[in-house]
Order: sequence, then C-alpha cells, then structure tokens
Amino acid sequence: MSHINPFTNAMQQFVQAVAVLSQSGRKVSKKEIKLFKEKIELMRFPKRIINVSVPVRMDDGSLKIFEGYRVQYDNTRGPYKGGIRFHPAVNLDEVKALSFWMTMKCAVANLPLGGGKGGVIVNPKELSESELEQLSRGYASAIANVIGPDIDVPAPDVNTNGKIMGWMVDEFIKVKSQKSKVRISKTEREKLKATFTGKLIADGGSEGREEATGLGGLYVLQAVIKRMQSPKKQLTAAIQGFGNVGYNAARFLFDSGIKVIAVSDSKGGIYVPDGINPEMTLACKKKNGMLSGCYCSGSVCDVSKGKPISNEELLLLDVDILVPAALENVINKDNAGKIKARIILEMANGPTTAEADIALHDKGIIVVPDILANSGGVTVSAFEWEQNLRGLHWTKKEVNRRLFDKMNEATENVWNASRSFKTDLRTGAFIVAILRLI
Ligand code: GLU
Repeated sequence: MSHINPFTNAMQQFVQAVAVLSQSGRKVSKKEIKLFKEKIELMRFPKRIINVSVPVRMDDGSLKIFEGYRVQYDNTRGPYKGGIRFHPAVNLDEVKALSFWMTMKCAVANLPLGGGKGGVIVNPKELSESELEQLSRGYASAIANVIGPDIDVPAPDVNTNGKIMGWMVDEFIKVKSQKSKVRISKTEREKLKATFTGKLIADGGSEGREEATGLGGLYVLQAVIKRMQSPKKQLTAAIQGFGNVGYNAARFLFDSGIKVIAVSDSKGGIYVPDGINPEMTLACKKKNGMLSGCYCSGSVCDVSKGKPISNEELLLLDVDILVPAALENVINKDNAGKIKARIILEMANGPTTAEADIALHDKGIIVVPDILANSGGVTVSAFEWEQNLRGLHWTKKEVNRRLFDKMNEATENVWNASRSFKTDLRTGAFIVAILRLI
C-alpha cells in the first residue's frame, strides 16, 4: 500500500473543491468572502479527538492494552456519525481523514448528521471471541461519556459488524444506567439504542442495513451510467475486497446482470473469465477458509474455470467497472496510468490518492467518489437511528425504496454540480457538501 497520509489526501481533495468553488464567479459580498474563508479554515480541523486505552484480559491470563481513537470532526448538520474500525494499521491521521469524509458523505446524502470515526489498533482475526467482546465493550465504555443519540452515533466499519455493535450498545446502556441516579425507563432504554447503528435486527437494527452499502453502490452506479449515454452491452466488473461491502457490491452487481470477473480479499484474488457467482464464491470461501481456488461460475465451482490473481493485478484488469472496496490509497501514482477500467466505483473510503485522481481524469476515466458511492451504508444507518428514536420498524421494502430515492437524489445533485462547475464528480460531490456545511 502506498504510504500517503490519508488526511493529507483528504485535505488536498478539499482544497481543490474550495478552489473550484472560489473561482466559480459566484457573486458574493466581501463580508461573505471573509465568512466563507473562516468557515473553510475551521473545516480543516476536527472538533474533538478522543484517545483511549482499552485493557483486555487475554485467554492466556496476560493483560494487553489496545489503543484507540474517536474523532468527532464536525456536527454542524447533526450528531457526529461514523463507523469504528478494528485494524492493525489504524492511526490517528487515518481516523481523522475517515471522519472528515464522513462529514462530507452525510452532507452529500443530505442526512441530518455530522461526521466522526473511531478506530482501534488491533488485528481482530488474532483475538478469541471472548477477547473481542472484552475489547468491544471496553472501547464502548471508554467513549460512553462522549457519545449518545444526539451527540455521536457510531456504527460498523472495516472488521466490525452487527454483533460487535450489539456488545457495544449493551455496554453503553449499562454504563449510562450505572451513572444515572434515577432508573432508566424502558422507553429511554429503547431510545439509547439509537446511539449505535448497524446493529443486528434482534438488537434494534434496521432491515436492509447489512447490505445497504453494496445496494446503495449499485443504485449510484446505475444513476451514473444512465447519464453517461454508453452503448448497451453487458458490462464487466472487478472488485477488490470481499468483506461486507465488497461481497454485497459483487452480489448486487451480479444480480443486475453485470459480469463480475474478478474478486479479491486481503490474501489475494481470483479471476474467472466466465463470470463469478458471488454467493457460491462466499460459501466456498467459508468452507475452504480462503478465496483461492473458489472459481465459482454459473452453478459450479471448478478449478479449471479460473486462476489466482494478485490484488495489484486485479486493479489493472480490462473491465468496464473497477470497484475498490477495501482500504485507502490502493489507486495511486504508481498504478493510475495503467488502469483500464472506464468507471471506478469507490466503495472503500479514500481508495484513490489526489495524484492518481489527476491521472485518471486525464485518461477520461470516471471516478464515482467514495462520499457518494458508499453513502448507502450511512444512509440506512440514519434510517435505523430515526426508527429507534421514533419507535418504528420499517420493512425491507420500505428501507430499500427510501435508499433508492436518496441515492438517486444524491447522484443527481453531484452530477449537476460537476456539470455546472465543469469539474469531476469528486469535486462536484465536495462542492455539494461544502455548500450545505457553510
Ligand atoms: N463505516 C461506514 C462508512 O464509512 C458506515 C458509517 C455509518 O453507518 O455510520 O460509511
């Protein structure tokens, strides 16, 4: 992975959008310019950074301390909102960048929410179930004083999921009950569940949340393709990342008739020219413990149907749609010039560096930016938050209908902004967000 600082990258994107906006000839008074400049300056800094250490009693009896963060970037439009990442390479600048992108993402999706993000430096794959539960509960308890339904609302991110949110929300409510002098009523307890989203349905989660990022990505992609006036033919795609986001993106693209010819996870990928069946591939991965050898096309998994491929090779395949759905900076100055895809659908956060953006733009490749492409997840998180606060439970059909409308509205706004400011979709998306934030 390229060693670009993600926060530097995020700020470069921001500065670029501010420059386009400032040069656009919008008629504003001197006072407005001064205010604009001050607000822009403020947006370069997170409001608050919380540093925590979480002790975990390991199964072998030793005590291990894990370091973590919660960055509360901006709450102009509503409570801070954003996931919690468990990863060995988490660092403060990464969490700052991710929380900044959340601010922009929530504004692009027009949600009444701000931006935040959390991270713990850990490889959760090396922890037992009990160690993982202690870590999750310990982290929730460490940040309990600074979160709440109208303060900051965390959710899953890389390597965290509904089960982990369940432990966290349970711990959070326990801490609040212990601190409260009066008994917390059942209704209040239900509302406190709105402090975390991405929960399992049994813990108060929303229908459709788990697959929302993938489905939202498909809706955005379809809305972009409709506007591109491309010739009608079966499209092909390659997807990097086979976690919740990558897998669901693969599944929805496949269901929509797109031929997915390559997928990968952190250990490597597979290339299946006849087209991958994502559901069968996941079942095979679960059985074998790895993607390698899972060449599942049509209704069979057969070793003669495909071959292994590296993560780097996957990015350079000759496909219509490239979907980075893993980590930051994977498309950078070293490989941008060699990318053959026509469209890049950024399902990961920050997968493209600012330098790569320029190279891709010069090649005429359309980059559908993360703050639009993957906003389906936080959009359904906002639905979950609303349902918890209002004591409702929407059907999956209702959730997906609302998601479809939100994604189409956001894509239309971003597309129109990029046209009227004569810029790319990323800068267009930033402009939509900035205008809603200042
Ligand atoms: N982690 C997801 C993201 O990066 C979802 C955040 C949320 O639902 O709050 O958008």
